[in-house]
Amino acid sequence: MKLTIVGTGYVGLVTGTGLANLGNDVICLDVDKTKTDVLAKGELTIYEPGLGEIFKRNLKGGRLKFTDDAIKAVQESEIIFICVGTPSNELYEADLTAVEDVARAIGKYMNGYKIVVNKSTVPVGTADLVKSIIKENQQKEVDFDVVSNPEFLREGAAVKDFENPDRIIIGTDSEKAEEIMTSLYRSVARTDRPIMVTDIKSAEIVKYASNAMLATRISFMNQLSYLCERTGGDIKEVAKGLGLDSRIGPRFLHAGLGYGGSCFPKDVKALISTLKKHDCDSDLFEAVHRINEKQRSVAVHKLKSVLEINESTVAVWGISFKPKTDDIREAPALHIIRNLQNLGATIHAYDPAAVKNAKEVLDGVRFFENPYETIRDSDALIIATEWDEFRNLDMRAVKVLLKKPVIIDGRNIYDPEEMRKLGFQYAGVGR
Ligand code: NAD
Repeated sequence: MKLTIVGTGYVGLVTGTGLANLGNDVICLDVDKTKTDVLAKGELTIYEPGLGEIFKRNLKGGRLKFTDDAIKAVQESEIIFICVGTPSNELYEADLTAVEDVARAIGKYMNGYKIVVNKSTVPVGTADLVKSIIKENQQKEVDFDVVSNPEFLREGAAVKDFENPDRIIIGTDSEKAEEIMTSLYRSVARTDRPIMVTDIKSAEIVKYASNAMLATRISFMNQLSYLCERTGGDIKEVAKGLGLDSRIGPRFLHAGLGYGGSCFPKDVKALISTLKKHDCDSDLFEAVHRINEKQRSVAVHKLKSVLEINESTVAVWGISFKPKTDDIREAPALHIIRNLQNLGATIHAYDPAAVKNAKEVLDGVRFFENPYETIRDSDALIIATEWDEFRNLDMRAVKVLLKKPVIIDGRNIYDPEEMRKLGFQYAGVGR
C-alpha cells in the first residue's frame, strides 16, 4: 500500500519505518525540514533500540522516503497517518494546533479517496473535528474517512511494540476503511495479536484509559511508599506481594520519582480537562497527577535531610525520563537538577543516550562520558533513571570516588542493606 506518515517524531518514525519494513511504500512528511533532510540522508534523529538497522535497509530499498512537501505527501497515498505532537497547554488540554494544521492541508490538497488515521493521542471527539476541518478545506467534494488508531508503543521498546503489539485498535464508522485498515495490519495480526474494531469514540477513549491506568498504578505505589517509610515496610516487598495477585499483576507497581515523558503527564492532564469539559468528575485523575507532582521533589527532600545543598556538588545519573530512550520531555531528572541548582548546588550529570538533548535545555550542568567520572569529588549521587548500566557498577569504587558516601536511589535499583554495609548513607524510595 501507499502510505503517508505526518510527523517524524518517536511515533511517526517508528510507525513509518515499521510499515515500510512490511513492504509498503511510505512517505514521511514533517514541517521540520532539517529533520527530513537528516533522515533522508540516512541518519536517525532519535535514539531507539533496533530502529537503525530497519530504517537504513528500507531507506536504501526505496520503500521509505522523507519530504517536507505536503502536496506530494497528501496526493501520493491513500492512507494518511497523523502522528504529530499533541502537547499540554496551560489549561491542561491537548493542544491540537498541529493536528488541525494537518487536517487543513489534507482537505486542501486531497485528490481522491483518503483514509485519514488519527494516531496522535487526541481527546474524544477529535475525529469529528478533523472530519469537519477537512470538509471545510476541500477545494472540491472528495470522499474520505477518518479513523482512530491510537498508538501504544513504548519508547525504548518501540520497534518490538510495533512488530508485536498487545492489540491494534481501529475505531471507524466505515466498512470500506475497516477493510483497508485491517488488511494493512494483517501481517501484524499474523502474530495472533488481536485487531479490535470498534466505534471511533471508544477507540479515542481507550488510549487515555490505558495511560491513565498505568499512571494511576505508579501514583498508587508512590503514595503507599510513604507508609512504608514511616512504618519500616519495604515498598518493593509490598509490590511483589501485590503483584502476585493474578487480578493485579506485577507491572507498573514501582515506587520512585514519579512518571515523566511526553505521554503520561500530558495525557492524565488532558483526561482531566476532557472530563471537566463534559461535566464529569475527575477527582481520581487529579489525585494521580497531584501525587506525581509531589513525587518529583522526593529526591531533593531526601538529600536535604542529609546534606547542606548550597555549594555542594551533586552527581546525577540518568536524565532521560526512562531507560533506553534519549527522550527527556517531563523527565523527573530535569526537575531535580533545576531544583538543586536553585538551592545553590553544582551539578555533574551522566546519561547513556540523553546528553545531547539535555544540553539543549539545561544550563550550567557539567556532563561526563561515564558514570564514575561523574561522581568524582561529588558530595552526593542521585540516581534518577534506572539504566541497566547502573545496576552492576563497582560500588566500592563509587564509594572511593564520592567525597561523601551519600546515595539517593530514586529508582530503588540497589539493595539498601548491601549499600549500608558498604558504608553508604543510602536512601531509596519507600524502603
Ligand atoms: P514528537 O514531538 O516526537 O514528533 C512530532 C513531530 O511532528 C515532530 O517531528 C514535528 O516537527 C512534527 N510536526 C508538527 N507539526 C506538524 C505539521 N503540521 N505537519 C507535519 N509535521 C508536523 O511526538 P511523538 O512523541 O512522536 O508523539 C506524537 C503523538 O503520538 C502524540 O500525540 C503523542 O501523545 C502520541 N504518542 C506518543 C508516544 C511516545 O512514546 N512518544 C506513544 C504513543 C502515542
